[in-house]
Parts: sequence; C-alpha cells; structure tokens
Amino acid sequence: MDANVHPTKTEVRFKNEGDVYSALQRAIRQVLVNTAPVPRVEEIGAAYRGKSQMVSPPEQRHMDMNIVMEEEQGTSVVSSLPVLRVLGQSMNSYIVAEGPEGIYIIDQHAAHERIMFEKITKQKQQQGVETQGLLEPVSIEVLPVQNEMLSKNYNYLADFGFTIEPFGNRTYLVRAVPSIMYNRDWRAALNELIDKLSEKDNASITEHIIATMACHSAIRFGQSLTLDEMRGLVRLMEQAALPHACPHGRTTMIQITKKQLEKEFGRVK
Ligand SMILES: [Zn+2]
Repeated sequence: MDANVHPTKTEVRFKNEGDVYSALQRAIRQVLVNTAPVPRVEEIGAAYRGKSQMVSPPEQRHMDMNIVMEEEQGTSVVSSLPVLRVLGQSMNSYIVAEGPEGIYIIDQHAAHERIMFEKITKQKQQQGVETQGLLEPVSIEVLPVQNEMLSKNYNYLADFGFTIEPFGNRTYLVRAVPSIMYNRDWRAALNELIDKLSEKDNASITEHIIATMACHSAIRFGQSLTLDEMRGLVRLMEQAALPHACPHGRTTMIQITKKQLEKEFGRVK
C-alpha cells in the first residue's frame, strides 16, 4: 500500500469494488496496528483538566474588538489556567499557544463563548444586562407560534437587555439590544431567544438564554484574528472562572504536554 498517494485522489474506481474495499481495509488495519497510536483528544483533554494555580493579573492589554475587553484591575485572580504565550492562529479557528506545561490548542469560538457567558451572567446578577438603544426602533415580524409566546413574555426579555414592545399584527418594535450584541447579528439571536421562551418553566432557561446570547456575540469559527486579539482572548480566558468548557459543555482547549511530545518523538521511552 502506498501511503503517499496524493490526498485529493479519492475518485479512483475499481471493477470489483467490494473485493478491493476489503483488501484495502485489511491493509490499512495492518498499517495502523504497526504504527504508534496517534494521541487522542480525549487523552489530551483528560491530561489537561484539573490544573490550578495563582496568577497575578496581566498588564495592560489591547482592547479593540468585542473580544478584547475590560477586566478587573488590581486584584489577584485564581485561575485554573497558567499564563499562556500565543504562538499563532491555525485554520482561522484555533489559537495555538504555549505554557509551562506544553502546547495548547484553543477553539476560539468556544473559548470566547465561555468568556461572554460569564460576562453576561455577571452583568445580569449585578447591575443588569447592559443595553444599548438603537438609533431607530427596528420592527420585527414573528411567526404565529412565536407571537403566542412573545405577546405574553416580551417583558421577560428586557431582563436580558432587549427592549421590545408589541406593535400589533405579529409585529414588535425593538428599541434597545444588549450592548455586547449591538454590532452583531442580534436579530438572529433574538429569533432564537423567542423560540427559547417556550422553555420558560424550565429551571435552566436563564442559562439557556445567556448561552444563546454568548454564542451570537462570540467571535466566529473561521474568523481571522490579529496577534493582539488572540492575546486579549487568552488573557480573558486566564481570568474565566471555568475556562475549560463552553456553555454547551464542549471543550474549549486541548493540551499536548511536553512529556507527550517527548514520547511521540521517541526522546523518552
Ligand atoms: Zn456557539
């Protein structure tokens, strides 16, 4: 078997496809058995979890985008992340960084989602979700099924920064939106939130609404970031209470330890 075949040559056709397939399957299995196992994400994730240490607050940082924002000043934060040095971005989606314990690969959307989730939660618990008035009220029309929920609960969304009033005929006027969404696609978020209103009796509805808002205000997977933006994001991660998982429970980062690298490269047995 030639393992160096060009990866795009996937369209080759054979006469006896079944035979070729099982022969290939046997050959591939043999190769896999004979080579060292590829490190699995689960192992890496497991190796990462549960590390904790004190860090002093990072110095002044860049604050350009929604992603790189204000933070507590002058207090030591207990972080479960070591201080990381950003090496770069991969696939416009992952931030590659290094720390004392090895290399870290961070899912930029999931990480920022976690940061936004904690930020909105904190705002809601303290002075309320920060809102920003729209220059002109925007009218939205909702589906009949959404109208049923929204007509009774539009005030509920005010707690989350959306100032909405009924305008008749399944139409509503949006006068203000959460500040963090002002320059984002708040319409898509609002549409999703209206659907979420049907879970109103669910104990975790607040969490679900904030998670939806966090998702829509976070930087996207596939968005290219400057080094400063990545550094800002990583600094905020270091301050997050639960940096390791996004609000939906997905992992925000994996770690490849120095030990794992040494093992993979055959530097230690
Ligand atoms: Zn998301």
